[in-house]
Amino acid sequence: TFITFEGGDGAGKTTQADLLGSWLEERGEEVVRTREPGGTRLGVEIRRLLLHGGDEIGDVDPRAEALLYAADRAQHVAKVIRPALERDAVVVQDRYIDSSLAYQGAGRVLDTAEVRRISEWAAEGLWPHLTVLLDVDADTAAARRAERGGATDRLEGEDAEFHEAVRAGFRALAKADPDRYLIVDASLPADEIHAKVINAYSSLRG
Ligand code: C5P
Ligand code: MG
Repeated sequence: TFITFEGGDGAGKTTQADLLGSWLEERGEEVVRTREPGGTRLGVEIRRLLLHGGDEIGDVDPRAEALLYAADRAQHVAKVIRPALERDAVVVQDRYIDSSLAYQGAGRVLDTAEVRRISEWAAEGLWPHLTVLLDVDADTAAARRAERGGATDRLEGEDAEFHEAVRAGFRALAKADPDRYLIVDASLPADEIHAKVINAYSSLRG
């Protein structure tokens, strides 16, 4: 089973993915807890360049950036996600194709359909069984980012307009694919969100 957590920076994806991972492990599942970008050794290098490359790489063209995320994803799917799914592990992941659609597509200048095309190619068409969108309003997200000492984002920082575009992108994706998506209000307490996630996971199993 393949489960992804999506949402803006400061939505609480990592917290919820960790909670679900622990819950599954307590039930005897093998859990592969991973993230994008940065879920492989190659991916760690790509992540470093994308998020902290700075002057080392200069101004990165949006297409080049989208392809770096796609390269990270191709390696991750081939070397980590598919092998895990083949041995029946549960993959619990921070960010996947939807993040590329929301950030490189809705958030930046690229056509979302084109970003989808390269992402699906990179992933060989692998989509999650369940995607949890932690839908976070700008104020909550900014407060959480401040709490942990600032944005992880390379370019966008505290640009409210960008974060709103990304949020709208995620919500549109979730509405277009209600069978895969659980949308949760990310301002709820963590344990309430966790309970909703467990419900959605349990109904996957039927
Ligand atoms: O989730 P995490 O904090 O690791 O993501 C770091 C940043 O990477 C995001 O806030 C976003 O700026 C960027 N990102 C992106 N496109 C993706 C994945 C991440 O722009 N597909
Ligand atoms: Mg994070």
